[in-house]
Formats: sequence, C-alpha cells, structure tokens
Amino acid sequence: MKQQGICILGSTGTIGVNTLDVIRRHLKSFRIIALTANRQVERMHQQCQEWQPEYVVMSDPEAAAALREIIIKEGLATEVFSSVDKLNEVVQYDSVDTVMAGIVGAAGLLPTLAAVKAGKRVLIANKEPLVMMGQVFVEEAKKSGAVLLPIDSEHNAIFQCLPFAVQQATAAPIEHTLKEHGVCRILLTGSGGPFLKQDRSSFSSITPAQACAHPNWVMGRKISVDSATMMNKGLELIEACALFSTSPEKIDIVVHPQSVIHSMVEYNDGSILAQLGNPDMRTPIAHALAWPKRMDAGVERLDLLKMSALEFLPPDVVKFPSLTLARQAAETGGTLPAILNAGNEVAVQSFLDGDIRFDQIIELVEETMQAVEYEPQQELDNVLAADRHARSFAERRAQNLS
Ligand code: MG
Repeated sequence: MKQQGICILGSTGTIGVNTLDVIRRHLKSFRIIALTANRQVERMHQQCQEWQPEYVVMSDPEAAAALREIIIKEGLATEVFSSVDKLNEVVQYDSVDTVMAGIVGAAGLLPTLAAVKAGKRVLIANKEPLVMMGQVFVEEAKKSGAVLLPIDSEHNAIFQCLPFAVQQATAAPIEHTLKEHGVCRILLTGSGGPFLKQDRSSFSSITPAQACAHPNWVMGRKISVDSATMMNKGLELIEACALFSTSPEKIDIVVHPQSVIHSMVEYNDGSILAQLGNPDMRTPIAHALAWPKRMDAGVERLDLLKMSALEFLPPDVVKFPSLTLARQAAETGGTLPAILNAGNEVAVQSFLDGDIRFDQIIELVEETMQAVEYEPQQELDNVLAADRHARSFAERRAQNLS
C-alpha cells in the first residue's frame, strides 16, 4: 500500500505533537513531507532530526534563519522556508496527500483553504475555518474533491455516530440531508467548563489562572477561556452546522461534566448513538488518519467499570449568554459567525492580558456583533473584511473598558 504523504500545519503545537505520536506507531503507512510552525526552533529541530521532512516552514523569519543554520550544519536534507505564502504552497505539493490543519487562530485559515482547493484529504483541527466560513470550505471541497474530516473531539464523535452514507457525504461534501438518513437530532456535549456550578455574581472576580484550569482536558489558554465562558461550545455549534449541513435548531447542547461521551446522534426510531473514550486527542486523530478504517492510537482504554455516574444537564443560557449569541450567529449565517469569532478572540486576549474582567468577555462579543455590520453572503473577501472590522472595533472597545 502506498504511504500517505503528510503535511502538518502547526507541528510543534498540541495537535501536531499528538499527530506525530500516532504516526510513529504506523511508520509503514505514513511519511512526513512537510512540517510547519511559528517560532519554536528547538522542538522543530528535534522533529527534523526524527522525521527528516522534505520541507519545513517557520512563519517567524528569525526562527527560520536560526533553524536553517542548524539544519545546514548537521547536513540534514530538509529545506527550510520562511513566509506565510509558503504555507499555502506546501499544502498543495503533489507528494502531500493529507494535511493536518492544526494552526490555532485565524492564521490557519488560508493554508487550510489552499489544501481544500487543492483537493487534499484535510483533517480540520482548528475551529476558525468552519466557524468563520464553513459554507466556503464545504463549497470548495465539493468543487475540488477534497475530503474533510473533523478532529475536534465532539465533531469527530458526531461523525462516528452518523450513518456511513452520511460520513461519506460529509467527508467528500455532497448534498444530503440528515433527515433522509433517519437522523433527527445531534446532541453536542460539553463539560460545562470550570464554572458550571459557580454563581454568576462571582464571575466578575474570576482570574485568568482560574479560567485556564480546565477539569478534564489539558488545553491552550485561549480555548480554556472559551470553555469557561462556554463560547467554545457555541463555536462548536456553528462548526457542526457547517460540517454536517444542518441548521442550529437540529443541534442540542447537553452539559456532561464527566466528558466521557464526546457527543451523540439521535435517530427517528428512538436510538441514540454515542461515542465514548478517554479524553485524548489521539483518538480523533487516529480515526481521521485511518478513516474509513481503524488503527491503534496508543490511547489508554476507557475502563467502564471504573467510571463514575454520568450526568447530563441542560445548559444555563442565562449564566452563559455565549450560547445564545452563537445560536444567533449560526442562524443568521453570512459574516456574522466571523464577527462573533473575531470579537471573542479580542475579548479573550484582553481578559488574559488583564485589561477586561471575565464577565466582560461575552458583553464585548455581543457589542461587537451589534456594532459591526454583517453581510448575508459568506465569501472569502467579505469574511476577511468582517474579521478585520470586528477586531478593530473590539480592540477599541476593550481599551475603553480597561
Ligand atoms: Mg471540542
């Protein structure tokens, strides 16, 4: 069998490191063609020694220069590039079959889109592409024949619980409705974050350190704050609408503090299918790399006998207004999801910088959604423009608040 040529966008981050860990167990099936990172020279150097990729892109020019010097000195064959444009180029190379899109934030948008346009198998681990312009991604994949597979644990779980015909239609996007396959509802689960049981009146005094201590998953700071405001679940709702071609009213958010079930799908005969597992990103990564087959992920088995009781609660939308805002953005579509996303990125950063309070994060998002004019069409240019306008509005507003 031919080895799959792999390009990892963001190879020194959590998703990248976990992807390499899975691939290390299946060296016969995969070959690393290209690795990319922002500025972590030391870790990238180690990855070059181990994987000997043909190409490396470091977005930071100084980091690229430092790495290039080491690579030349050691006589490694890797070519080191530094420019954001190169990211869009390496994903299209013929030797690349599969692209793992693991760059956090809006920076991952264009290279991921380039991979989709080039008809690659694209494993989507960053939220922004599907949140900001899910329709564009799905439309482009239809044109190019790209295969889209979700890595976000909930979406990967939903994907696994859908009928195989819907999995195929989702992966290589073709027109379908969930209804014709007997699916009546998607149950998107979330832990509820660290403040699930805390009173809303205490939200104003929550510190960044408290917000970043997630009970079940080890995550970066931005996504930890998103989990604490439950905006992460809101963004995931928007993501799921795009990916599974469905409307937000067909998706219920269910709070499940143990994070053992990663999401569920309900069928019209009364069945509910759930995907369970230890919270370990290597499971969705291995699933997507191997799909439609299965392969070992190196993950610790879930011991059902050691499991405590599983709880399911409705989300408290008064305490977590992020969910209502996200639903509104998903229903309205166009550029509103991008405006919400940009307002939220700025608000979270301002909170982490100590400029605004925890309870002001979602207020700032709401103000941004009201202030920045949205357009009903979702196209690359107007989404990027909406993203810029929303960022500059939110930044100005955050300064006034601080
Ligand atoms: Mg998730």
